[in-house]
Amino acid sequence: MMAHEPVHVAGHLGLGDQIYMRPFIRRIQEKRQVFVETSFPQLWWDMPNIKCVKADGGLRTQAKNIRRVDFCDWHGEPRGINTMRISYAHDHTNKRCGIIASLSQQFQQPCDNFEWRVKPEWMTEAADFVKSLEGRNGRKIGIVRPPTYREEWPCPSRNSDPRVIPHIAQSTKDEIMWVAIGDIDPRFERIDGDEGYWEAAALKGELHVGALAALLLLADIVLASPCFVLPMSCAVGARAFFVFGGYVHPRFVIDPRMGLEKIEWIEPSPFCNCVTNQHDCEKSYRPEKALAKFNEFRRRFRD
Ligand SMILES: [Zn+2]
Repeated sequence: MMAHEPVHVAGHLGLGDQIYMRPFIRRIQEKRQVFVETSFPQLWWDMPNIKCVKADGGLRTQAKNIRRVDFCDWHGEPRGINTMRISYAHDHTNKRCGIIASLSQQFQQPCDNFEWRVKPEWMTEAADFVKSLEGRNGRKIGIVRPPTYREEWPCPSRNSDPRVIPHIAQSTKDEIMWVAIGDIDPRFERIDGDEGYWEAAALKGELHVGALAALLLLADIVLASPCFVLPMSCAVGARAFFVFGGYVHPRFVIDPRMGLEKIEWIEPSPFCNCVTNQHDCEKSYRPEKALAKFNEFRRRFRD
């Protein structure tokens, strides 16, 4: 590749996957123009040398973001320039290394800035959403992303034990008003485990990814299973707690280079390293133990 010629990056298209790629692409675009295959142009607004190439063939939520986003600067697939094809699936499933290490190796770049800046107008949208919530009564806002089962990409093995997130939410409701977020189309996806442990919800994709990122940042605490919320929380600097299930061990998706000051997690021990999307993993930890760790984490941030 010539020193400063543009490059085309074709990587994973999931929201979480794209957040993981940002620090590496940030480095590359400091030297050359980068055409990125994406369904989320919101992710690239803070990098001047990026051209978004509309990724078709994506999953439902990706296609939906393309339709709704107010973005008209799409570029066609560039011709005559090199394409970097990025995939960490192989490294990941063979347990050789985590996502950050794999991407760093493939891009040949360090991960030295994981931050994704939230646009002021997204903060306004998120603040308006919070203001619209009824029955808060002075409580803190907690954002929960309930674990789900997606028909398009089923991966229940990595979801948390279905008792744990509801237990944490129910036990803290005097102090925290829990608001569930997600983008669930009941034809393709359902919540894995109990429902109704939240008092308000935006579960039909009411918030676009920028407003969602701002909402995580505005909230007092975020609670989820491993999913896009994990890299998103690290990138925007939200305070967040993650409950792991099986299959995806924290060491594959959490790396100190992401900035971990404001996140905490718990995983079952022993951990099921089955590497199977649909294994019925043993996820044995007591909900009380997860709650104690969650409360201890929150105490760290008390004024
Ligand atoms: Zn398993």
